[in-house]
Amino acid sequence: MTGQPRAVGADALWHPFAPMQRVRHRKLTISRADDVWVWDSTGRKYLDATAGLWYCNVGHGRHEIIDAVTNQLRKLDCYQIFNDIANEPALELAHAISSRAPVDNAKVFFTSGGSDAIDTAAKLARAYFTARGRPERTVLLHRTHSYHGTHGHGTALAGIPANRVGAPFVGDVEQVPNDDVGALEEAILAAGPDRVAAFFAEPVLGAGGVVAPPDGFLRAAAEVCHRHGILFVADSVICGFGRLGNWFGIERFGVRPDMITFAKGVTSGYQPLGGVVVGDDVAAPFWEEPNHIFRHGQTYAGHPVACAAGLANIEVLESRELLAQSLRLEIQLAERLRSLADHPLLAEVRAGVGFLGALQLAPERLAGQPELVRLVVDAIREEGVLARLMGEGIGFSPPLTATDDQLDQLTDAVCAGLDHVQTAFSH
Ligand code: PLP
Repeated sequence: MTGQPRAVGADALWHPFAPMQRVRHRKLTISRADDVWVWDSTGRKYLDATAGLWYCNVGHGRHEIIDAVTNQLRKLDCYQIFNDIANEPALELAHAISSRAPVDNAKVFFTSGGSDAIDTAAKLARAYFTARGRPERTVLLHRTHSYHGTHGHGTALAGIPANRVGAPFVGDVEQVPNDDVGALEEAILAAGPDRVAAFFAEPVLGAGGVVAPPDGFLRAAAEVCHRHGILFVADSVICGFGRLGNWFGIERFGVRPDMITFAKGVTSGYQPLGGVVVGDDVAAPFWEEPNHIFRHGQTYAGHPVACAAGLANIEVLESRELLAQSLRLEIQLAERLRSLADHPLLAEVRAGVGFLGALQLAPERLAGQPELVRLVVDAIREEGVLARLMGEGIGFSPPLTATDDQLDQLTDAVCAGLDHVQTAFSH
């Protein structure tokens, strides 16, 4: 039983991305959390093998962050960044992020989350070219299997076909194969190199199935973009703040992007926050010239409490050396997931670049029974581990504080869950 008795509000709460016809009757209500553990409302304990939705990098219940948030609430509960008004945590966090980013003289534009960050980067790319007298540069490129959030631009940039909800979309968006530099350049030439504004790329594709780029792909893609004067936007919403063993994920591939979108791990989810790191070339028209204003922003972007959480989160990542720990853990996770590779339900194991991984179910086993993936995720949950249902795969991205023993527990639960479903369907 992975569901719980119907709760107050069950007829009112609409879950994102969820089949409500089923979920309204059967849901898991999480009540409490500590480090890599969460408890449901009946008191049952689970290993959080996904760090929430890939965000809780430092683990749950870090007193340093909780104290920073409560102290900030007492001092300045809210105040916007708008016009000439700022707040201290936002200034300090902008500095902390800028000084860690692989971008020259970086500026930081805060948002409320990752989808906002993508919309911001897309609008800023076009606004930049307009400010530079090139308003015809409007085309945005993205990759198959990409996920860039659910706002207007992010939906248009969705490389997961099922997520393209609500057409017609923002115009001038082109999709390119996710691992083919030649195809990227062809798409640029077909669109007209002088019409392309930006290329959006996740360092490791996350929601699209945890797909690492082939060796050299991102560096070659950045070189092609820069040769044609196109901005390279690294979407580091999942890959940042330790998930790939560094601050923004993209450093790992030797690319210096023009913009970086971030969210999730910036606060480890303790408060909602996102943003865009912007290189000085792109910022220049707006920072150096009086006649250009980027007329864009959200009320809660750079909220002082969220920024206080971000500052404390960076301190925890550093004081516990979690970036280095992530690099060690990615090997441990990859070894364990690969040990399951021969399971008859599985077609592929993807892991080894970053502390995240995915198991792909065999297409022939899914034929005629697409519910099989959910059944495996449910069976893993029965074993006390929360994994992520991702299309035809199962995803893992535990907090960076996980121990080897906890990864063993994760692997045992996954193995038992796979066996359970295999046995149930072999009769
Ligand atoms: N970009 C990427 C790569 C993501 O994985 C996500 C969310 O999962 C987003 C953007 C959107 O972020 P948010 O859900 O905070 O709006």
